[in-house]
Parts: sequence; C-alpha cells; structure tokens
Amino acid sequence: MEPQTVIFIGPQGSGKGTQIERLYKAISEADPLRRIVDIQTGRRFRALAAKQETFAEKKVAQGLDSGELQPDFLTHILWGEAMLSQLDDNSHLLIDGFPRTVTQAEVLENALEFFERESVHVINLDTPEEVVRKRMYERARDDDTADSIETRLRWYREDTLPVLDFYRVRPDTQVHDIDGTDSIDGVHVQILKALNL
Ligand code: AMP
Repeated sequence: MEPQTVIFIGPQGSGKGTQIERLYKAISEADPLRRIVDIQTGRRFRALAAKQETFAEKKVAQGLDSGELQPDFLTHILWGEAMLSQLDDNSHLLIDGFPRTVTQAEVLENALEFFERESVHVINLDTPEEVVRKRMYERARDDDTADSIETRLRWYREDTLPVLDFYRVRPDTQVHDIDGTDSIDGVHVQILKALNL
C-alpha cells in the first residue's frame, strides 16, 4: 500500500469525525507499519480558544460560538504547523476540516507539492442540508445553537462546496461521492470501497 492522502469534505453533522476514526483504524490494520498523520483544524481551533487569554484566543472563541469560519491565515498556521512537525513522504495523511474555502485549497496545493503528495483522494460525504440540520439540532453540542447551525450551513454552501469543484478538475485526484445518509457502517463500507481497502 502506497502512502495515501485523503481529504474529507462534508458539512458539519455529516459524520466526518466518526468516519475518519473508523478509516484510521482500517488503515492501521491494513498497513500496520506505516504511520498515519491525522490533522483536524476544528480540534486545533478549539484548543486555541480554550485558553481565552490573548486577544486572538478570545476572538477565536467568539467565532466558534457564532459558527463563523475562522480566517484563512489562522487556519493555514494551524494545519501548516501540524504538517511541519509530523509529516514526511512515507506516512498516510488524513485531513479533516480543511480546505473549507478555495483559498485554503490553493494554499494546500503548495503544501502537497512540498511534501511530494500530488495524488489525492477526496471523500465527499454528500449529505443534504435538511439531514445535517436535524442531526445538529439533535446532538446539541455547546456550539450548536440555531444561529450558529445556520451560519455553518451557509458557509458550507457558499465557501466549501466550490472546493469540491476545485478537486473535480484537479489532475491526479479522485473525488469519491459518498451517500452520507447511509448508516455509520454503510458509509464506512462505501469509503473502504472507494479507497480499495
Ligand atoms: P469542525 O470541528 O471541523 O466542525 O470545526 C469547528 C469550527 O472550527 C468551525 O465551525 C470553524 O469555526 C472552525 N474551523 C475549522 N476548520 C476551519 C477551516 N478550515 N477554516 C475556517 N474555520 C475553520
């Protein structure tokens, strides 16, 4: 098995976190000797916001509460730092939470070239808005207020969906459209098939 680069794209509530965890396990069983680098920008933003000391930490915390997209430059710092400290050319790379804008996708191109990872798989967890809206209302995480849910759905539609179009025409790229309304097991099986695992 060659080192894989897998980018997950899907709205909040599409089950990205759960599916990445399952995929992580499946890859580590199929290829036990290779390291897996798993980078999640959401987790990194939450860790930054938790301190609430500096101007930036407080501002990030407010942004998380309201459900807004955080600025591109900060996103690049967070995943850039994670790649710098963990990534080499021989690890599997699982990406969750970025790119969420076309600008981010363009900067990620620069990084993929640097790390010699031209070939990528994109897992599109295609899930209709009404399904993820219902799931978010039901899970009631701290940041799942009605306003923030609607804000997050809006930027997904306006800023993140164009990222899929970016990958559909990128050379050396397979975009796998996965039916996100399937069960957790069903989605997992779809992803394994898509990646030939
Ligand atoms: P997540 O855990 O991936 O759903 O992300 C939680 C929150 O972190 C999002 O609602 C955004 O405010 C912020 N965030 C995570 N990734 C990004 C990104 N790539 N660009 C901008 N904001 C992000």
